Amino acid sequence: MIIAMQAEATTEEIDNVCQRIREFGYMPHVIRGEERTVIAAIGHGDKKEHIEQLKSLNGVENAFPILQPFKLVSREVKKQKSEIRVGDIKIGDGGFVVMAGPCSVEGREQIMTTAAAVAESGARILRGGAYKPRTSPYDFQGLAEEGLKLLAEARERTGLKIITEVLDTEDVEIVREYADILQVGARNMQNFALLKKLGEVTKPIMLKRGLSATIKEFLLSAEYIVTHGNPNVILCERGIRTFETATRNTLDLAAVPLLNELTHLPVIVDPSHATGKRSLVHPLAKATVAVGADGLMVEVHPTPEQAWSDGPQSLRLEEFSKMMDDLNPYIKLRQNEIN
Ligand code: PEP
Ligand code: MN
Repeated sequence: MIIAMQAEATTEEIDNVCQRIREFGYMPHVIRGEERTVIAAIGHGDKKEHIEQLKSLNGVENAFPILQPFKLVSREVKKQKSEIRVGDIKIGDGGFVVMAGPCSVEGREQIMTTAAAVAESGARILRGGAYKPRTSPYDFQGLAEEGLKLLAEARERTGLKIITEVLDTEDVEIVREYADILQVGARNMQNFALLKKLGEVTKPIMLKRGLSATIKEFLLSAEYIVTHGNPNVILCERGIRTFETATRNTLDLAAVPLLNELTHLPVIVDPSHATGKRSLVHPLAKATVAVGADGLMVEVHPTPEQAWSDGPQSLRLEEFSKMMDDLNPYIKLRQNEIN
């Protein structure tokens, strides 16, 4: 259930409500908003008599049940959109953040060339997999720590922040050391052991939607990370599997405004994995801005023909630059609205 405190509620009154919530067998989560504090009481039941008793406590304005199965990530609990900070970058503040880079980190020259080019075009965050979830065990699995070191070097050179995937609970420590944002891949969206472990990390987590995950399942996976202690979750719509085979996946653009209704977490779109086709990335990137996403993740490679993974969907450097020329006026417009 949710307990909305009066705007003038004191710390003692808030503490007292938390205490009663615990006595009733729920876990209190205090969310301090700009105007008032809201306390989410998480647990089974939402019993009517508990709600009535909490309503009568000093400093409480109202108490009501949370209707959605996902709680802490829902808009019911927190009306204001969450802003996730990555150094001086904010995701979810109304602006539009572009993440770009190769599918996999393949070597120094490849990652440095890409990093310099995408930074020049206006990307703020460099992507690149060091641990790769490949459908076939015979495919390239990533450079592991060597890849992380190269990403860190690219960050040093360009000022870009870095996002990279963590595949396994065993790798959380090492990826956390290097990455600014830790990515959970589509195939791991319901790896609950990994999600729980990422709840203990303070760095932002970008959770990609599972290959055939419903919106409810997607948000419940985000809820795992948040209930385990890390509120810094970014959602990524990356296409879902449908009967259509002409594209690698089907980009569910409706998911973006729908998620914006259901959750306060920022939402970004990955048109590269959604389509698997280079020619479709630019038009869908434009749609991403229009539909109200908080950002974009795009695969870019200096020579996609020679890429070790996902070449057919990777933009060439000049194609990325052209796409950004198209998007930059809209990105600036959104930025001006915030300032
Ligand atoms: C990726 O971003 O490199 C990736 C593997 O994506 P997904 O998990 O969405 O397939
Ligand atoms: Mn890829």
